[in-house]
Parts: sequence; C-alpha cells; structure tokens
Amino acid sequence: MGQTARTTKILLDIAAPDQGGANPGKRSYLEETVAVLDAARQFYLDFFLAHPDKLMERVEVISKKTGEVHEGVISADNLLTWAEFQTVETPDHPTPLPDWNFSRTFPDFPNRYRRSVIKDVIGKARGYLTTLLKWQSSGKKKGKPGVPTASNHPTLYAGTFSLELDALDLRKSFVRLKVYTGSQWVWVHYPTRYNRYFEQRRAESGWEAESPKLILGKQSAAIHFLQTKTITAKKIVESKRDPDLVTVAVDLNVKQLAVITVRQHGVIKETRFVSDQGLDQHRYQHLKCVAKKQWQAGKAVKGERSNRQLWAHLRRQNLDSAHKTAQAIVEVCEKYPGCVLVFERLRVIKPKGGSKSRRLNRKQANQLKGKINQLAKEKAYAVGIVSCETNAHGTSQYCSRCGAKGERFSRKGSVCIIGRGGKLFRCKACSYEVQADWNASVNVHHSFWREYHWQPRKKCSG
Ligand SMILES: [Zn+2]
Repeated sequence: MGQTARTTKILLDIAAPDQGGANPGKRSYLEETVAVLDAARQFYLDFFLAHPDKLMERVEVISKKTGEVHEGVISADNLLTWAEFQTVETPDHPTPLPDWNFSRTFPDFPNRYRRSVIKDVIGKARGYLTTLLKWQSSGKKKGKPGVPTASNHPTLYAGTFSLELDALDLRKSFVRLKVYTGSQWVWVHYPTRYNRYFEQRRAESGWEAESPKLILGKQSAAIHFLQTKTITAKKIVESKRDPDLVTVAVDLNVKQLAVITVRQHGVIKETRFVSDQGLDQHRYQHLKCVAKKQWQAGKAVKGERSNRQLWAHLRRQNLDSAHKTAQAIVEVCEKYPGCVLVFERLRVIKPKGGSKSRRLNRKQANQLKGKINQLAKEKAYAVGIVSCETNAHGTSQYCSRCGAKGERFSRKGSVCIIGRGGKLFRCKACSYEVQADWNASVNVHHSFWREYHWQPRKKCSG
C-alpha cells in the first residue's frame, strides 16, 4: 500500500478585455487576495512564535486506532481552536488578547481563509521551532535556522471557491472565488481556459481531490488541483517468486530514447523502440549557437543568464519528450497487469571530450534520461506497477544470448567499424549479431533475474 499524488492545473482567463479576457480589476483582486492572506499569515506566524510554549505543549492524546492514551504534542485542530479564541472577536467572546486582535486588524476576514491561514502557519512555526531547538542544543555557531516566510499560495477550501463547469459547453466554465478587492471581500467569477484534459483527469476514478491552490504568476493565474490515490502493489520480492511474472525492461539511450522489452517465461514477448525523433540533433544545433555566443561574449557575467529563451525552449522540448517516452513505457506495462518495470541504474558519466556544444548536448541527454526514468516510475506507480533498478554494469558489453563478452560495431556499406558507439552488437562466442540497444535492454532482464555470471549483486526496492 502506498500513496501517489499528482497535480492538474486549470488556467484562469485574466487577459486584458480587448483580448476577450476578464476585466483588469479581476487580476488585481487576485493580487490583493494573495497579499492580504500573506499579511494574515504573518500575523499568526508572529502570534505563534510569541507563544512557543503553547505551540509545543505536550498533552495526553488518545489514539483513535487503539484507544491507548499517550503523551504527544497538541493537535493542530486544538491549537486552531485555541488561537481563534485568543485572537477573534465574537458576540459570545468579545475580548480577545488586546495585542492580538485579528478581527480589528483584518475586518470581515472570511472564516475559511482564516482557518486555512492558521493551519498553514502551525506547520511552519512548529517546523521552525523544532529545528531551532535542535540547533541550540547542538551548540553550533553557524547555521542558525531562519524564521519562515509568511508567503504561500492560497489554499482554496470549500466556502472560498467553487468550480462551475457547464456540462454542455465546457468553454463557458468558470471558477467562483472569494477575493479581496482591497477594501472588501466579494465573490468573483473567473472564466477558465477550456481544457478537456482537465475534466478527464479530475473525474478519473480512484483519485481523491485535495483542496486546490491558487497560483498567481507574473503573467498567468491558475488553480492547481492536487489529487491523491492509494496504490496497492506487490513488493518486488513477492513478485519474484511468481513463475509467471512479466518483466518490462527499459534501456535508456540518446537516439533511441528507450528500448522496451517484455519478457515472460524467459522469452521476449514484445519490443518497442521509442525514438527521439531527431531531438538530439535539433538540440545540438541550438547548443552550437549557445556555445558560439558564449565564446564571442567572452567570460560569462556571474548571475546573468544568456540565451534565456533558447534554454527555455530546450527545457520544454526535453520535458515534453520525457513525458511522451514515459507514457510509452507505461502503455507497454499496462498491457501486462502485475508486471515489474525494470530500469538499469543510471550512471553518472561526466561528459568530456569533443566540442563545448557536444559536451553541453551530452549533459542535456543525461538529464533527459534521468527525467524519463523518474516520470516513468511515477506514472507506472500511479497505475499500480512497481519498478526496480538493477546495477548497470556491463549491460551493453555482454551477449544477451550466451553471456559472453562481445563488441559493438557499425556497418558502413561493406566496411565494419568496431567501436563503443556502434549501433550493432556482435558476440564472438556464439556469433550472435543484434541491435546493440536491444541487446542491452534484454540484458536488463538477465540482470534482474541474475542469470549470468557477469551480473553483480543488485539492490531492488519497492
Ligand atoms: Zn553470445
């Protein structure tokens, strides 16, 4: 059993009115709301840090599961009630602490927002106090923990927000938000950017919705919906005892981004190649530009970024192909329920040799590999498939048929070029010739099952 989380975003349409968006006031309301919530958070942060004893109070806690009584730190809910009693003016309780009268400082502040702010701050303040105490008892002079900041993205609990999706025409969907205009709290409708993908993700079964957050950027505003899912998956050690277990092995490369092979009962049942569609070459051309510009400009100025748009473009492309490759891997896995996804452990190879652009490109390719690995594991886990890493030693050097050491080569016409970068693999012992990346992918299975002598000990988790 485990948990996995994901975020789905919906963009609010707050473009200028001549571009068909909401009126400009709507944007400033969001800014005011974020600012007033930050101020309220600061108020409570100061309040809790002024009452550290209450914040860390030890009380008797009754376990909900076992009914046992033990001593523990006061619960956030109790602390919230206490804080409200101290700071909020109500008809029943007209006299909060004079120095900490929240109702006077923030008139008409919506209760839901106040509670979300207090809960936010309790975590922050407690974390800070704990590390501060640890630091004090350690006797160190350096590394004093800093006071936490009060700014955060507003959490939208029920009562401050509602999502109104028109079932017939999703383009007319909007979000209703309780926002601060600078003088008062009002409900405002914000049209959303039509997004069929969003609706599909939101309604997907098995996913539980958490409270969304309002994320206000410089150019855009979005609501992020966090969803969580409980996963039931077998442990690798249990799966390994199953003689019918299907293993899906992935070899990550530069041009063939992923070579996916599926094996059951010792036989390769399916193979899928995911090509980079020329990404490596494309990136290389861009990086040649970057390297040239850097060379012309001389030494880079510290703290100054050059080629910002170009780097952003490269990052986007890398991320996009990482998502697509990971998706392809998971699609293969989904055909074999209960399978185990096996990767070889990523080696950290420092790019050296060649031109600067070549080194930059290698670095990007390495990062892409890491991203594919991470995303594929996350996506696979979300559909209940566990993954595992095997030690990468020698997967590309040994024959996947007999286990003997072989060599890589390429063919140019009738000429054979032997070298590490070769596309093909040849085994001298059994004269097996095969695509080199595919050979490596099959070797990942061998490595998982520890079938040949060259397999080192490996660690599997999950
Ligand atoms: Zn062989």
